[in-house]
Amino acid sequence: MKIIGLVGGMSWESSLEYYRVMNEVVKARLGGLHSARILMNSLDFAPLRERMCAGDWAFVGGHLADAARTLEAAGAELVVIGTNTMHKVAPEVEAATSVPLVHIADATAEVARAGGYSKVALLGTIFTMEDDFYVGRLKEHGFEVLVPGAEDRKLVDRVIFDELCKGTFSDSSRAEFLRVIDGLAAQGAEAVILGCTEIGLLVRPGDTLVPTLDTCRIHAEAAVKAALG
Ligand code: GLU
Repeated sequence: MKIIGLVGGMSWESSLEYYRVMNEVVKARLGGLHSARILMNSLDFAPLRERMCAGDWAFVGGHLADAARTLEAAGAELVVIGTNTMHKVAPEVEAATSVPLVHIADATAEVARAGGYSKVALLGTIFTMEDDFYVGRLKEHGFEVLVPGAEDRKLVDRVIFDELCKGTFSDSSRAEFLRVIDGLAAQGAEAVILGCTEIGLLVRPGDTLVPTLDTCRIHAEAAVKAALG
């Protein structure tokens, strides 16, 4: 079993999920007392968030590249960036290490393809929904990608940073997310990608009629698949 290097802390609410899911999947695959081999480099999210908001992606990329380098030096045999948004700097992280990066959008695309979907909706941070690093990558995989309207993109982004990343999961925000998801389904989305690693903690599979793809779970499962071969 290869050692998974998780760049975490963004937010730590979802890093806990990564840790739990990775261990659950290893247990399901290998049984007995088997558990995942994981090194986590858990970063302080606040300064990174400040730099993101300031548009200083060079700092963010450098910081995550250093974090991945540290994991490789400690023995990690593959790297996982435990957030969708930070895949904006995935090229810098990949260039900094010689071990493979398990890309969250590729893992999600694989699951969406297996589900037979071609038109998917994407919920996530403003960066994930509006920049090309994520939507473009899904399109390269052949998907048509819908995102919410401008006002709803702002709402989703605000809830992610003001609530979900701080461990607040309220019924009122869940209702808002379900309203947005219903709207996307009405526009023809066959599945909705929960493209922020904390959304799956708010919106559960039974909450919606349209299928949801929880990127935190999908990414953690893909990492274990890569680790076990
Ligand atoms: N965890 C979130 C994501 O998957 C947002 C935090 C971040 O900006 O990295 O995008």
